[in-house]
Amino acid sequence: MNPGTVVFVGAGPGAAEYITVRGARCLAQADVVLHDALTDPALRQWAPGAQWIHVGKRGYRDSTVQTEINALMLKHALAGARVVRLKGGDPSVFGRLEEELQALHAHGVATEVVPGITAALAAAAASQRPLTRRGSGRSVSFATAVTQAGAVAAGRRADTEVFYMAGARLAELSRRLQAAGWPADTPVHVVSRALWPDQIASDHPLGELASAAVLHSGRPAVATVGVGASPVAPNPLPVERHQPPVASREP
Ligand code: SAH
Repeated sequence: MNPGTVVFVGAGPGAAEYITVRGARCLAQADVVLHDALTDPALRQWAPGAQWIHVGKRGYRDSTVQTEINALMLKHALAGARVVRLKGGDPSVFGRLEEELQALHAHGVATEVVPGITAALAAAAASQRPLTRRGSGRSVSFATAVTQAGAVAAGRRADTEVFYMAGARLAELSRRLQAAGWPADTPVHVVSRALWPDQIASDHPLGELASAAVLHSGRPAVATVGVGASPVAPNPLPVERHQPPVASREP
């Protein structure tokens, strides 16, 4: 990393080991790390010398907070720091990357984007449910269930649709999807905290999706609807995925 630059790094959805090698290398060189709420505190092991600043909160941030984040990135970059902007999942998916890139480019700050594993892919991997299927699943969409104005919006655009930020609005999402033409018995798979040790996954026919709300309450969750929501075998046998942590977690 060069001084005075900002690298957007996707941290992946969960446990620190899902960051890319390039992302971890950027962290190791960073002077300042601006991170979101959803990123794993164990990631600090890769940038022990950097100043870690917690910015942002879950869901849509209000524009004041966004302006402050932009100002903070700019301040450190213009002062010559190597800045990592660490984002949950992938920076390009529902991550406000557009505003942050615009703010930096407007002031001539050089940037790079390092991709990460987005929640839809994490959920598919966690539950071993391929998003595409030969013959029946030829398209996938990543959608947010909630618009910026706070309304629930949903249609029927792909064979498999993955909804982000759906947690609190599952009953309404179910109604909207049925109104858009999805049958009430369409399979829906909900995964919260995918690839964390405490992940929860559940299956629901679309017409009964509201019943998932209690189970996943207060946890980041994605709802996969359609072809990619079905199990490939009746009883998948996952291997034990979570090894003991490499370094102890910091508070
Ligand atoms: N940039 C992120 C998404 C940020 S929006 C990404 O690429 O994944 C935040 C939403 O992401 C949450 O409301 C939830 O829908 C989803 N999400 C993030 N982490 C998740 C996880 N570990 N498991 C399930 N959903 C997750």
